[in-house]
Amino acid sequence: MDEISRGNGAARPGLGAGTRDMAFVAGLFDLIARPAKRTLLHNFIKYVNYSNIEWETGHLSEDYVIGMATTMLEGAGLNKPDWLTEERYREHVYDLDDLLFLACDYAADAAFYILFSDKDFLFDFCKIVGNSVRQFGPSDADCFEKPGVIKRLTYLPSWLRTAIYHRDHGHCQDCTRDLTALNVPFTDLQYDHMLPLDVSGTNDPTNFQLLCKACNTSKKAKPLVKKQLVCTYWDMGP
Ligand SMILES: [Zn+2]
Repeated sequence: MDEISRGNGAARPGLGAGTRDMAFVAGLFDLIARPAKRTLLHNFIKYVNYSNIEWETGHLSEDYVIGMATTMLEGAGLNKPDWLTEERYREHVYDLDDLLFLACDYAADAAFYILFSDKDFLFDFCKIVGNSVRQFGPSDADCFEKPGVIKRLTYLPSWLRTAIYHRDHGHCQDCTRDLTALNVPFTDLQYDHMLPLDVSGTNDPTNFQLLCKACNTSKKAKPLVKKQLVCTYWDMGP
């Protein structure tokens, strides 16, 4: 996975990957500054997938392209256009480009659903993003407190707290304390940056985990990701 490099630009649909490369980077500061439901990981998956598809449509055989495009559109629930045939699709290359770009959103959702449960993967992703965050500072965007350090949020949106709580099965990801009981104070549920902001972590949803108050207090600014807790569903009861 390459680091994300500097760049500027705005999205203009249908103009090809060069412009979309720029759009990916241009959206970086918004995504690392505050949590969004379309996360940095969604964007990354879509970018990688779309880049591969763009290469395939330009280099591989017509029958391969038709098969790949048909599978992508079916998976995304999009109608296959009449012109998507070996004989005609080259007359509609920009239309096909737009359709596949759209279909990549569905593929990104599907991949994210799986990857968001893999905290080891997420931590590696956050570290790679952190290598890029270190290249920027307050002169690049308002979201920076100082070079390489993003400002802390005053609160996390409820949709993100709910998602992290359920993904982590209501258990502290350090000491494994069960935080699902009714008598657990609300303040004992803490949403921690796996890669701390002080070492170029971000506020993207991929960088949060559930900790109990005691573990979060003792962790301070150290990166912490324990081996993925593996729970079988039939062992989750009392
Ligand atoms: Zn704990």
